Amino acid sequence: MLDKIVIANRGEIALRILRACKEMGIATVAIHSEADRDLMHVRLADESVCIGPASSTSSYLNIPAIISAAEITDAMAIHPGYGFLAENADFAERVEKSGFNFIGPTADTIRMMGDKVSAIHAMKQAGVPCVPGSNGPLGDNPKTILATAKKIGYPVIIKAAGGGGGRGMRVVHTEANLLNAISLTRSEAKSAFGNDMVYMEKFLENPRHIEFQVLGDGEGNAIHLGERDCSMQRRHQKVIEESPAPGLDEKKREKIGATVVKACKAIKYRGAGTFEFLYEDGEFYFIEMNTRIQVEHPVTEMVTGVDLIKAQIAIAAGKGLPCKQKDITMEGHAIECRINAEDPETFMPCPGTIKFYHPPGGPGIRIDSHIYTSYKVPPYYDSMIGKLISYGKTREEAINRMKNALDEIVIDGIKTNIPLHKKIMRDSNFAKGGTNIHYLEHELMK
Ligand code: ADP
Repeated sequence: MLDKIVIANRGEIALRILRACKEMGIATVAIHSEADRDLMHVRLADESVCIGPASSTSSYLNIPAIISAAEITDAMAIHPGYGFLAENADFAERVEKSGFNFIGPTADTIRMMGDKVSAIHAMKQAGVPCVPGSNGPLGDNPKTILATAKKIGYPVIIKAAGGGGGRGMRVVHTEANLLNAISLTRSEAKSAFGNDMVYMEKFLENPRHIEFQVLGDGEGNAIHLGERDCSMQRRHQKVIEESPAPGLDEKKREKIGATVVKACKAIKYRGAGTFEFLYEDGEFYFIEMNTRIQVEHPVTEMVTGVDLIKAQIAIAAGKGLPCKQKDITMEGHAIECRINAEDPETFMPCPGTIKFYHPPGGPGIRIDSHIYTSYKVPPYYDSMIGKLISYGKTREEAINRMKNALDEIVIDGIKTNIPLHKKIMRDSNFAKGGTNIHYLEHELMK
């Protein structure tokens, strides 16, 4: 087993990884910025190392500092969490070249999936259904580009090959706007991701976002753990996730599940990963693969009973998959609300001191959060301060438990998006299930 792990992240996911390590009897090293000395997991870790000033570039993105921390503490592996360096192939490579285990896929896999154009290409070859599109990067010839769009049919979406986090995308409704939209997306992509390669896809008008969780052992064995519906989004960013996806029948789940497992086996995928799809009119269309643990992993854990973080660690230690495909069943229903420190009206981040915190409880309630009374939410990082997860035998029970939990939770001193979650939980269309990716912005927030 791995004796000691460096947790190369912060906030709730760092605490989640720390909890898994403690359960497994693995010693932990928390690395943190100067602004994060008071993080819960830093207090609870066996050792901690300050790796730089508040700015992420100088700390959580500082590869030499993180590797030095692993060296001086004599750790064996590095868990990257999500965000920051989790999908940085150069980081994975340098971690392994320095003699540590990277808890995630190989650098080559990360590189291939990090470029959406090469990811789509690989998935097509493995038989995964993709969105009709340009089948590769857009060149410089305006005539060819216009012809490609015409063939796909408007509206189309221009996407950066290196994009992520809902950025680097532009929808185009008419031919007149196409070329200008492409050059704008290119220059944005160049400055945001250092790569101006863009591609084109059919813009699906009313899809749901449904993604499949996988685990691979890196030796050609893989399993899937069913799906999550993440259609409740604002600006292409997930707000609520649930598992299973309302109304998805077992046959479809099995079919797509088998396809993604086949793709994982083909590339000898190692670790936890997620295949993201758009789902419209009963068809799945692959959009991208995330080669890391996702924020929304708890809903899968609740319905399958598999601890995904422990599975990631066991795979990295060479212990293989936690179980066989036939042992995976989805039972009950789980919902996750992302709690952000932000103004519920303007969505502007709202850092500050939490004067009083009271977490909710009761049957089927889980809260993954690093906050506590008197904790100061720093202004330098993502505004998510925790995740509230409810589980029920049925979706209705999960919603009712979530409603209670949202009424019980108290986070005083800063603004949060809890009012928005309360509104969604009481919405009649959400209660029916199966709303699409535009529902929150177009219907609930108008
Ligand atoms: P990112 O890597 O930035 O998260 P994704 O490719 O995963 O980007 O897309 C994020 C979201 O953007 C999707 O969940 C969906 O809401 C929207 N989106 C992406 N591609 C399309 C498409 N072809 N048609 C309609 N919506 C899309």
